Amino acid sequence: MSEISCNSTKYCHCGEINRFFILKIPSNPGRKFCKCPKPKAKNCGFWEWPDNFSDNTLSEISDLKGKLEVATVKIDNLRESLDAIRLERDNLKKKVDNLEAINNSQVNKSRKLEEKILKLKMLFMISLAVLVGFFCC
Ligand SMILES: [Zn+2]
Repeated sequence: MSEISCNSTKYCHCGEINRFFILKIPSNPGRKFCKCPKPKAKNCGFWEWPDNFSDNTLSEISDLKGKLEVATVKIDNLRESLDAIRLERDNLKKKVDNLEAINNSQVNKSRKLEEKILKLKMLFMISLAVLVGFFCC
């Protein structure tokens, strides 16, 4: 049990302001209750549920808490999956960037080779023209 608040406006049989406590037992975890704030030996025995929930309502709350715990676990698992997917996405982006850099480098090399081939063709044609001119004369 733990005390969570002392701002109740209800009074017990001995005139003390009640305090709220929270149950920490497995069958009713987290449920609030009020009791006389005096020590056990001196208190008036006042004790009540401030929420007045029926057993059905408490059962529904317990079920919903269970579902919330399951959903929380699922959310945690999904977050872990999302983190793994983001990591994989980042790695793939790096690979794509590297491949694009390699591709750009290859394209530049190809352009330079094409320019060299064009220059060699022109040189060959000029040489051929000079040779033809030389033999014709
Ligand atoms: Zn009391």
